[in-house]
Amino acid sequence: MFWDSTIILLIPALLFAMYAQAQVQTTFGRYSHVRNMYGYTAEQVARRILDSMGLYDVRIERIPGNLTDHYDPRVKVLRLSDAVYGNDSIAAIGVAAHEAGHAVQHAKGYIPLLLRNSLVPVANLGANLAWPMVILGLFMGSAGIHFINLGIILFSAAVLFQVITLPVEIDASRRAIALLQANGLFTREDLEPAKKVLQAAALTYVAAVLVSIMQLLRLFIIRDSRE
Ligand SMILES: [Zn+2]
Repeated sequence: MFWDSTIILLIPALLFAMYAQAQVQTTFGRYSHVRNMYGYTAEQVARRILDSMGLYDVRIERIPGNLTDHYDPRVKVLRLSDAVYGNDSIAAIGVAAHEAGHAVQHAKGYIPLLLRNSLVPVANLGANLAWPMVILGLFMGSAGIHFINLGIILFSAAVLFQVITLPVEIDASRRAIALLQANGLFTREDLEPAKKVLQAAALTYVAAVLVSIMQLLRLFIIRDSRE
């Protein structure tokens, strides 16, 4: 984060990000207290979804933390957090089904997921080094432009990663809902709130992309307006 007058550009995106965050907290808060009608736990549902797709070799593990749920494609392990694993709320099952959706994407060789996974190292590098490069460049003489440009390239890699993350996340949720429905794991009454929870989560990814794009725009303006 760098402070100057272009920070104004960020404000609408940041407001949208706050709105998205509030939506997630509201929907998760509400549906983490509503049990699903069949009484399944999140772990049971994830197992059923994986088995229904023939993914018997994908293991499910319990891990500590809050919202640490993820699928690890390298070792084919779906990790569910303490708050989700044995929970039978609609929100917990939504999360577990979403992560199972990622496992299905991996098994099917879903291109955006493969692309995204291959971009992880570049994106991390970009996210960590972009701003230091730009700031370094601003304090240097005429050679500084090269550092700023490098910073912009690095930051663009991080933005690209976020943009590719969008279809991956939306598709995982779409698969989650379809698989819950196809396997008869959720009643029609439970499906609607599950959709709301997953849509709210998707909105935070959209907001993150908008914030990053505005940051990138700022970098161009900062570069072109330097002394
Ligand atoms: Zn996801």
